[in-house]
Amino acid sequence: MNFDLSMENIQIRGMVRDFIAKEIQPNLKYYEENRLFPKPIFQKMGKAGFFGACFPERFGGSELGFLNLTIIAEEISKAHPSLGYAFNMQAMTCPFTILNWGTEEQILKYVPDLIKADKIGMFALTESGGGSDPAGSMKTTARLDGDEYVLNGSKAWITFANEADVGVLFAKTDVNAGHNGISAFIIETDRSGFTANPLEISALGYMTRSCDVFLEDYRIPKENLLGKEGEGFKIAMNALDYGRLTVSSRLVGIAQGCIDESLKYCHERVVSGKPIGEYQMIQHLIADMVVETDGARLLSYRSGYLKDKGEAATRQSSYAKYFASEVAAKVTRSALEIFGGNGISDDYPIMKYVNYANMLHFGEGSANIQRILIANDALGLKNANRHHISRRFSLSSDLTKEAVKES
Ligand SMILES: Cc1cc2nc3c(=O)[nH]c(=O)nc-3n(C[C@H](O)[C@H](O)[C@H](O)COP(=O)(O)OP(=O)(O)OC[C@H]3O[C@@H](n4cnc5c(N)ncnc54)[C@H](O)[C@@H]3O)c2cc1C
Repeated sequence: MNFDLSMENIQIRGMVRDFIAKEIQPNLKYYEENRLFPKPIFQKMGKAGFFGACFPERFGGSELGFLNLTIIAEEISKAHPSLGYAFNMQAMTCPFTILNWGTEEQILKYVPDLIKADKIGMFALTESGGGSDPAGSMKTTARLDGDEYVLNGSKAWITFANEADVGVLFAKTDVNAGHNGISAFIIETDRSGFTANPLEISALGYMTRSCDVFLEDYRIPKENLLGKEGEGFKIAMNALDYGRLTVSSRLVGIAQGCIDESLKYCHERVVSGKPIGEYQMIQHLIADMVVETDGARLLSYRSGYLKDKGEAATRQSSYAKYFASEVAAKVTRSALEIFGGNGISDDYPIMKYVNYANMLHFGEGSANIQRILIANDALGLKNANRHHISRRFSLSSDLTKEAVKES
């Protein structure tokens, strides 16, 4: 067993840090203050190969693999947790689901543009009736009419639906068949009948937008069915399984961001004649923050490492997501304590980290849902998301790719 990152992993992490310092940090304020979607930043990330990390070169991917994906996601989320949200849409839930389940034509038509961020992606599963039980709450329907499907219904909380060009969306093709009546579709948002209304939620910050989505007699060619009719639930659970990998590393990025800020603050902030880092109770907080974040990172790396070996790592991704969400909640709370009143000031990024740590508690299955999956697995009971499906395309073993060298 070897816990060291390889030279290649370290080089990639350094390259991502340089990219963030040069391309992201100087521009973030402009997009935040003007409430603009940072598409040019996305496109630069796409060109650098970040979104294409787990995609074969022949579809425009950089073939860096899943472990490197966790490293990239952590750094991006640390830079700004809002960009981490976008990262999942652009690297995983939308294009990776098309890669895993699409035909060669579908992959060639959508994936290269998505992972370069020339097109923006979304993943639309949740409905207002409850995200924890997507099959039970799903009211959106799809009816075959000649060569087209006609979709009607609505979706809730869909990240960047107002900016998206393409999405993976789930609807019932058979309302009487439970899980087996759900199908997945690749939708194009410029067709009539599609509306996305961004929600005004201050906790999200300016760059992330969640939207209500409405489909009214929305028509799509039948070639846009993803997988087979009735396979939608399996596709959704498989997509969330891969999504959990990056959600855990994004939570680690949030926790690490808080640690970095807290360490600086502990040296700078002098109270009663001493830097606060010299007070033992503050040191206890720091010790817990550092150790627990490291544990969450190791769990996240492990699921990336196992996926690189071709294993499904469903259980391990659930462990990583669950533990990282608990750690990020605790670490952000500790950072608030260290910063005192300044923790909520806009001069420091702590509240951003707090908000996103809390939001990510729900993403890709809430903490309770992870507990259910993990306990069922330990008890040998049936798990709803146990679809041990490996990815369809293996990546080459020579992982240092042109995209990295160029950056
Ligand atoms: C910022 C943000 C962005 C999002 N982006 C997307 C997106 O792009 N695409 C998308 O499809 N969805 C998205 N979501 C939705 C997200 O996936 C859901 O919020 C999540 O699945 C939880 O669903 P819910 O909010 O409806 O909570 P509910 O399902 O109503 O659950 C409420 C509470 O009850 C608990 N609970 C539910 N069932 C059980 C049970 N059986 N046992 C014990 N406890 C239970 C849950 O853990 C939770 O604590 C986003 C959400 C947020 C907040």
